[in-house]
Amino acid sequence: MRCVVKKFGGTSVGDIHRIREVAKKVAAARDQGEHIVVVVSAMAGETDRLVTLAHQLVESPNAREFDLLLSTGEMVSSALLALVLNDMGYAAESFVGRQVGILTDSIHTRARIRRIDGERILRALEQGRIAVVAGFQGIDEREDLTTLGRGGSDTTAVALAAALGAEMCEIYTDVDGVYTADPNLVPGARRLRKISYDEMLEMASLGAKVLQTRSVEVGKIYQVPVLVKSTFQEGEGTLVTEEDAELEKVVVSGVTLDKNQARITVAAVPDRPGVAAKILGQVSDAHIVVDMIVQNVGEQGLTDLSFTVARGDGQKAATLVQEVLPEIGAREVKLDATIAKVSIIGAGMRSHAGVAAGMFTALARENINIFMISTSEIKISCVIDEKYGELAVRALHEAFGLSQDRG
Ligand code: ASP
Ligand code: MG
Repeated sequence: MRCVVKKFGGTSVGDIHRIREVAKKVAAARDQGEHIVVVVSAMAGETDRLVTLAHQLVESPNAREFDLLLSTGEMVSSALLALVLNDMGYAAESFVGRQVGILTDSIHTRARIRRIDGERILRALEQGRIAVVAGFQGIDEREDLTTLGRGGSDTTAVALAAALGAEMCEIYTDVDGVYTADPNLVPGARRLRKISYDEMLEMASLGAKVLQTRSVEVGKIYQVPVLVKSTFQEGEGTLVTEEDAELEKVVVSGVTLDKNQARITVAAVPDRPGVAAKILGQVSDAHIVVDMIVQNVGEQGLTDLSFTVARGDGQKAATLVQEVLPEIGAREVKLDATIAKVSIIGAGMRSHAGVAAGMFTALARENINIFMISTSEIKISCVIDEKYGELAVRALHEAFGLSQDRG
């Protein structure tokens, strides 16, 4: 059956008035004859409120109970939306994750969807009803409730679209699409008409908050066209889709800034096998994710090793490395939590030379020093001093011609 999945984020269902507006939008699409599955987030601020409640009671809440608590936000908004729709004369049914067979693994608070049995939704659609699904949740094998990580309603929507073979997954949010840079930082930032899954994946994991990274992975695997649009104003939005010749032509599609970074430097490390393994093993055993790693060319048998982690993990990582210092015989550990990572992303980098040089030149022109560099096929990231973060984003946006209209 041809259907469309429409997901509405927290701001879009932020209060009673807005829920009514969403209902009108859904009703208008239904009038056009579309079969509709709606996925909703919790009302704006609700998930945070629930998190705070739990932490006021206990320091580290049990993950199983925490998931049950967090999942209630989405239940409220789905039920409210179905209530209004019915009241307006549109047959609608709200469902929680388990009712529509969203089965996940058992990693509470960041579960991954394993399978969706969309039977119940299909039945509702066949009967001409609008299915309103609570996002962000599923159940595991033990039938315990799980949640999909912050921003997880996006993933519910894209995964449902894949499972139902929907024509499109529309993500309605408070911005009108994906931008070349954060418009709050760069006044000349422009909305992209189209972006490839790979570029969107990089953008999402580099801190552009429009879509949960996992949702883009699912979209890419199942080739679900994902359209990001504003709930509040008309517009074309941004289509996340397969890479094509048009997208390949654009060398740089976007610039991102991530300030949630800390750098740990281990100075005067003996330059011998096993030392990096020891240092980074100590950190990864504590489940801290290491991002960039740089080791200098050793001199007189000594070298420096630096790596970055999320800022919140900085202190802990530094302490852990400190513990193994005597064993490896390094001199000292330094923590720097005033760094930022600025990145440029573009599918066209695969086929264009000199992009990295262009980036370094643009930063040099502003006298911005680069501490670390990392690259992938379609991305280049530089770690710089946090206080130049905004300047760097603006300079790069300008240098790669992103402010100009490409028509
Ligand atoms: N309500 C959840 C959150 O705030 C999931 C979502 O909105 O996508 O993270
Ligand atoms: Mg979101």
